[in-house]
Parts: sequence; structure tokens; C-alpha cells
Amino acid sequence: MISAASVACSYRHIPLPHKKKSISFTSSSHHSFCSLSLSSGLHHFFKMERFWTRGALDENKALVEHLQHYGVVKSRKVAEVMEKIDRGLFVPEGNPAYVDSPMQIGYNATISAPHMHGMCLELLEEHLKSGMHVLDVGSGTGYLTACFAMMVGPQGRAVGVEHIPELVASSIENLKKSAAAPLLKEGSLSVHVADGRLGWPELAPYDAIHVGAAASEIPQPLIDQLKPGGRIVIPVGNIFQDLQVVDKKADGSISVRSETSVRYVPLTSRASQLHDN
Ligand code: SAH
Repeated sequence: MISAASVACSYRHIPLPHKKKSISFTSSSHHSFCSLSLSSGLHHFFKMERFWTRGALDENKALVEHLQHYGVVKSRKVAEVMEKIDRGLFVPEGNPAYVDSPMQIGYNATISAPHMHGMCLELLEEHLKSGMHVLDVGSGTGYLTACFAMMVGPQGRAVGVEHIPELVASSIENLKKSAAAPLLKEGSLSVHVADGRLGWPELAPYDAIHVGAAASEIPQPLIDQLKPGGRIVIPVGNIFQDLQVVDKKADGSISVRSETSVRYVPLTSRASQLHDN
């Protein structure tokens, strides 16, 4: 049996050099916050709410800066989107959300490490322009689907497909709290319970397809649902896996290259994924 922890994607661990604490009552920011004069208990409560939110956003920003510092995130647009989508809203409570590491999310699944999210966004950036269509197979927590939706904007379509109904339900709750909530409400962002190996034909063809679980081979429906000029980023392999970049040229021909070695949970049937639980 392969445990979720052992297959968690972690090809490269980049430690955060200086991880800020989300809240510290001795920090200077707290003192400046206190100086805003808290006249009533209710007023105090709302100020505290804002303070907590601010702390999370600062930590998320520090994580993105860390990825920029190490050259994982190069594009301004990718950095902006990762700053807006607070990873802390997608990581199950009790886990350190702003550490560059994958985390277990239950059901033998993980949320990928931030550097893998950053790398996939970078690889797909040219295919995530305003108005484009993007499919996220194995959308898990919904974090990357949210980033994709922010990249393609309200004129585009971002669709997540995940085969564990409980993960789809919790990802929708996460998305509702995130900066991508208006896109979910307006319908340019959606998440569905389905077998992602079949893609999502309703919104095909796609400019970008991301697969968040490792396939033994690239599923043909995903190639069929890719637009000419489009790109798939997919981990391929079993024990040894490569992150493959699949480009469909204007004439429909396909080129495949390997970006790097990775470890992801398998793209499989629901029964065999849950069997290992
Ligand atoms: N990008 C997600 C990754 C989650 S892990 C995140 O960072 O949150 C991979 C996900 O793929 C798991 O949630 C798993 O349930 C899902 N998965 C595996 N096989 C699948 C399949 N055939 N169809 C849909 N989802 C699948």
C-alpha cells in the first residue's frame, strides 16, 4: 500500500527562510492597530477580524515572495493571482498553510506544495489569458482552480473536475470564502464531481488543461479536448513520474516534453483511491 504521505508531491522542498507568525500580540503592527482606539466591544471584535485577515494575507504574500525569490514564480500576473488567493483558506485547519510543502486533505489526496502550484501556473500562463477556457483535473481543495479562474477572468471559463464528492463540496466552501467567490457566483468558475480522465466535454475545447494527479499515460479525451495552440501540464508515471508539458500545434500535431521529476497521487478510479484509505 502506498500512503498519501509517501506519494505527496514533493520533488523539491524550499524552506521558508523567515516565516512570519500570523498573530503576535507584541508585534508593532498590533500596537499600531491598538492605537486605532477601540471604543466598544463590538468595534474591538471587527478590528480583530480585520487584524486576523491581514495576518493571513501577509503570510500568503511572504510565501509568494519566497517563490519569487527562488525563481519559481517569475510572472507578475502569476504572483498577483497567488497573492489574491489565500492558500490558508484551502488548507485543512491545523496545518501550516504557508509552508512550502504538500499537505494531506483526506481521501488519500493532498494539496500540492506551493512551488508546484507556482510552477504549473507559470507553465500555463500563456494559455490562461483573459477569456480563455481552462480545465483542472483532480481539483482537490480548489486552490489552483481558483487561481486559474482569476487568470482567465469573468469572460473566461475555469472548470474543476474531482471524483471525490466530499472534496468537491469542501472546495466549493473554500472558493466561496476566497477572492474567486464572485467568479463562482457568476458562473465563470465551476467545480464538478466526475472522472477527470474523461475531461469535461461541455466546455471544450480548452486552451489549458492541468492535471493534479499522476496518470500512467496521457488520457486521450484530454488530448481531444485541447484546442490547437493549447497546452496540457500533467504528471505522468507510476513510481517515477515526470511533469509533462503537452502542446497541440495549429495543425493538431502533439509535442511532449518533460519539465521535471515529480511525485503526485495517482489519477485513478475513486474505488482504488479510497481502497488505500
Ligand atoms: N490540485 C489539487 C491536487 C489534489 S491531489 C490541489 O492542490 O488541491 C489530486 C486530486 O486528484 C485528488 O483530490 C484526487 O481525489 C483527484 N483524482 C484522482 N483521480 C481522479 C480522477 N480519475 N478524476 C478526478 N479526480 C481525480
